[in-house]
Amino acid sequence: MDIIVLKQGATDKEINHIVRKLDVKGFKANISRGTERTVIGVIGDTSKITEEESSAFEAMPCVESVLRIIQPFKFASRSFKSEDTTIKIGKHIIGGRKIHVIAGPCAVENKNMLLKIAQEVKKAGATFIRGGAFKPRTSPYTFQGLGEEGLEYLADVKKKTGMPIVTEIMDPRDIDIILRYTDIIQVGARNMQNFRLLQEVGSYDKPVLLKRGLSATIKEFLMAAEYIMSRGNNKVILCERGIRTFETETRNTLDLSAVPVLKELSHLPVVVDPSHGVGKWRFVPSMARAAIAAGADGLIIEVHTNPEEALSDGEQSLKPAKFKVLMKELRAVAKAVEREI
Ligand code: PEP
Ligand code: MN
Repeated sequence: MDIIVLKQGATDKEINHIVRKLDVKGFKANISRGTERTVIGVIGDTSKITEEESSAFEAMPCVESVLRIIQPFKFASRSFKSEDTTIKIGKHIIGGRKIHVIAGPCAVENKNMLLKIAQEVKKAGATFIRGGAFKPRTSPYTFQGLGEEGLEYLADVKKKTGMPIVTEIMDPRDIDIILRYTDIIQVGARNMQNFRLLQEVGSYDKPVLLKRGLSATIKEFLMAAEYIMSRGNNKVILCERGIRTFETETRNTLDLSAVPVLKELSHLPVVVDPSHGVGKWRFVPSMARAAIAAGADGLIIEVHTNPEEALSDGEQSLKPAKFKVLMKELRAVAKAVEREI
């Protein structure tokens, strides 16, 4: 027994009664109030629940049915929640009809550059500013990010442009400082299976943009989302950013088939990062257009005013002029799939 589906009109008293019963048995409850029905997810090792115990719940007058979920991920699954999840951040809603474009440099490098990029991408139609202050670099000898100083520059940009912030966390010890500044916490590909970090970000009510690991299967990706959700944070945005294959022409192989597959398996919003997916700026626009056509709810795109001098990922960053052209093309694709940007 993993899920208790309640009848329409189940009262708070009845719900609390079930929560208490679960608590006595050592389980926690995750209550999801949908527009159609309320569902209680059972948190803990549910394989220990006997058939008899399960039937006792099913016999309660307010219970419609008791379900077992076959998939190893529960809260992330469509069977737990059939409606698409929407996540409200300020005045923006991710996962609805509107497609959101998160744009900005790979890393926050300096205050003026960040502001300039933010103003350019905002003018072109991006709604969120991205930029890493803590960078997961392959080499310890390359630029590691500005740390808190970088977060302050992001906050300054937010104040001046109104754009909410997306920035990466690398270490659970940085949670307080990251929470102070960001609107969406990014968990990078290299940390997708850093389970302590996932649990940490799962303990707060702050949206998390979870990137697919470099060689993670879709199931492993959804289990990572489950780590966050099992701690009570349901605001998870999945991000396909390319996986390792034998191909070397592109930095990674952008798995666009992950978009419809994730949409079928999960109710969570899905965004695509074509920049890390291909690693070369000239291939970014095609993959961005394809991602929208495939059903993505958003994009995360690296933009830099001077990519030749960028301290990280310059080779995959679009200049603002190219980004502006792309945004116009994306609007047309979005319209074709009955969405808007
Ligand atoms: C990034 O967004 O700059 C980044 C490091 O991404 P990823 O974790 O997907 O490599
Ligand atoms: Mn990058």
